[in-house]
Amino acid sequence: MTAELQVDVAILGAGMVGASLVHLLAPARQQGLRIALIDRQPLKPEADTSERPPSFDGRATALSYGTQQLFAKLGLWQHIQSSACAIEHIQVSDQGHFGQAHLHAHEQNTEALGYVIENAALGKGLLRGIDTLDNVELFAPANAEQIQMNADGAQLTLDDGRILQTQLLVMADGGRSPLASQLGIQHSRQPYGTHALVTQIECDQDHNHWAYERFSGDGPIAFLPLQQRSYAVVWTLNDDEIDAVMALPDGEFLARLQQQIGMRLGQFIRVGERSRYPLALVQSKEQVRRSLVLLGNAAHSLHPVAGQGFNLALRDAAVLAEHLNRAHNKCQGLGDLALLQAYEAQQQTDQRNTIVASDVLPKLFGSKQSALTFVRDAGLLGLAAAPTARRLFGRHAMGLGQRAASVR
Ligand SMILES: Cc1cc2nc3c(=O)[nH]c(=O)nc-3n(C[C@H](O)[C@H](O)[C@H](O)COP(=O)(O)OP(=O)(O)OC[C@H]3O[C@@H](n4cnc5c(N)ncnc54)[C@H](O)[C@@H]3O)c2cc1C
Repeated sequence: MTAELQVDVAILGAGMVGASLVHLLAPARQQGLRIALIDRQPLKPEADTSERPPSFDGRATALSYGTQQLFAKLGLWQHIQSSACAIEHIQVSDQGHFGQAHLHAHEQNTEALGYVIENAALGKGLLRGIDTLDNVELFAPANAEQIQMNADGAQLTLDDGRILQTQLLVMADGGRSPLASQLGIQHSRQPYGTHALVTQIECDQDHNHWAYERFSGDGPIAFLPLQQRSYAVVWTLNDDEIDAVMALPDGEFLARLQQQIGMRLGQFIRVGERSRYPLALVQSKEQVRRSLVLLGNAAHSLHPVAGQGFNLALRDAAVLAEHLNRAHNKCQGLGDLALLQAYEAQQQTDQRNTIVASDVLPKLFGSKQSALTFVRDAGLLGLAAAPTARRLFGRHAMGLGQRAASVR
């Protein structure tokens, strides 16, 4: 059977990561690089939640300062800025213990430590006009059913019978990819025994651009500022508690949540829809092969406690794009294994550090052992007392600890 369409790069999955990669490849696209973007969901920025890629559901995402800077360079920030709320201060505290630390944007000499945006608004920004970009062909809604690696790269078979031949296939198809398994790519999966309960609350006080990371008896909870008096909440709960908390009537839910953090945010007066996500550290055992790269959740899916999953994946995507833009400019093959291994090697340290930090935090702060309690309180007090430690911690949280990939 002959391929219906030949492209240079096929991106499977138009979630946050796949859609971002299309924009990051603008320099090569402008020089003729042809991209196919495939998703089983229709890619209409204004579609209902049920019709959008799962990345753009009812959650909100904390974007690091580094991510914001990258979006600004790509010309995307101007489209999402009005929906994003700046985090100017962060309070990290431990319920029932004395440790507490504050981070401030002015100590980092920036206007914000990061930004919070509803995923739906982020989706609108990333998908806006994507169907009119030069050299991008959309295949959506279309389900990729089969991948075959061949001498020219990879061949993708879609559920409507169309076949795509590509030099390079980027799998940005999320954490549960049957196609990766089809290729014999294995994943390690370490469940945390917890779920993230995600919702929004409204308070009777302005947030004044404060975010709160609270380590409570139930598990870590993040309160991220959104509109003037509302927060996005990510509450980690043990698997055996999640059903009961999801089912609580609104009043009881708010009372239980208020108990975890006290009155520092004011009185909670309203709660939005609740949703739940099982939490596990999932890592692909291979991220590159000849003509193949795994990106985003397909490569690593992290605990959301530190809000780093997408920020890390975007740094990966930016570095990959830097290699691909350069190779295309020099007329080099994009599926070349050495090229893809160079990308992987460049991102190894960033991935390792970010994954370890996201893995250690919930374990350290989820523990009731007194030795660990002492360590975390000492850590928080150290942060509270030492401006240099705060600056370093802040730079990591802001996604500035790593060299930013260049974007033309
Ligand atoms: C509760 C929670 C809170 C989070 N908060 C933050 C945060 O504050 N900051 C942060 O940086 N990160 C955060 N994250 C992580 C972030 O959400 C993920 O990193 C991000 O969603 C990964 O996106 P992705 O594009 O890799 O995958 P996905 O969003 O899963 O997208 C994969 C896409 O591939 C498509 N697809 C899959 N298979 C096929 C197929 N066979 N054919 C066609 N299409 C296919 C799907 O339709 C989908 O659109 C959070 C995660 C959770 C669970």
